[in-house]
Amino acid sequence: MATLELKDVHAEVAEDGGEKILDGVDLEIPSGEIHALMGPNGSGKSTTAKIIAGHPAYDVTDGEVLFTIEDDDFDGAEELPADDRTFDLLGLEPNERAALGIFLAFQYPAEIEGVTLVNFLRTALNAKLDEREELLFEDDDEDADDAADDDEDAGYETSPMEGPADDGEIGVADFQEILSEKMETLDMDEKFANRYLNAGFSGGEKKQNEVLQAAILEPSIAVLDEIDSGLDIDRLQDVSTGINALRDEQDTGILQITHYQRILDYVEPDRVHIMLDGEVVMEGDAELAEKLEDEGYDWVRDQVYETA
Ligand code: ADP
Ligand code: MG
Ligand code: MG
Repeated sequence: MATLELKDVHAEVAEDGGEKILDGVDLEIPSGEIHALMGPNGSGKSTTAKIIAGHPAYDVTDGEVLFTIEDDDFDGAEELPADDRTFDLLGLEPNERAALGIFLAFQYPAEIEGVTLVNFLRTALNAKLDEREELLFEDDDEDADDAADDDEDAGYETSPMEGPADDGEIGVADFQEILSEKMETLDMDEKFANRYLNAGFSGGEKKQNEVLQAAILEPSIAVLDEIDSGLDIDRLQDVSTGINALRDEQDTGILQITHYQRILDYVEPDRVHIMLDGEVVMEGDAELAEKLEDEGYDWVRDQVYETA
């Protein structure tokens, strides 16, 4: 089980005199749980998501973002020294954070001609596994590289047509199997993955892609920013089925950012955090989201400023 922790995170826009946006955010998300992050427009929810992922548009001026992994988070994690499993995410590049098990959906570059979703996902998974190997087991990797160099010196060559791909990369056939399995648990049509990226996806399909990416990459923590926005009820239910499966089937922890309570009828949160003016000001269980639905964010504002 992994844990993502934000401790008193302050952040501003990364430019001279950049506006201050986060004013001491505290959050703790363990894998295997669904946490809703709610709040009015402009309260800092998306900025929080981007800071977790390492977006360059923001500077963190104070506080910490820590990520702790345990034995069961991925194969090989048990080899890491016990006192060396907490990572300061702020010191890592976005792709390194992703390699450790943090997921924030990326948009598919539409200009890629003739690449299917399935190939794109396979490339993304191999890139993640490769980066993780490099980041955590660099020494071993160097040994492996040295060994490969020795082979080269000895005149051996590895044919790309033979056996498993280099570096234990996941090949086409193996990936197809992984994909089929994931699509079945997500209750998605397998044809979907054979679509070409440049053919374009509808708004709802983009959201389903987001869930599929998270299923393939098997992150410990997935940040889903307004995945419910603009979905009709059928698509909302499909996406919700997928989110629940991420938690139930692969123990992914979900930070579900949403303005509205609606999706929480289908994805029941273990915990609800409410942001206001760049801070998490209130926390509770699923009932808190229901209260928001009835009474709106003004109620939170009144409550917070009364007791302040
Ligand atoms: P939310 O997702 O809760 O609606 P955001 O995190 O997107 O809120 O934004 C919080 C506040 O920070 C808003 O007032 C927004 O205008 C401002 N903000 C966010 N990003 C930038 C930026 N890159 N430059 C200037 N202001 C920004
Ligand atoms: Mg605080
Ligand atoms: Mg937002």
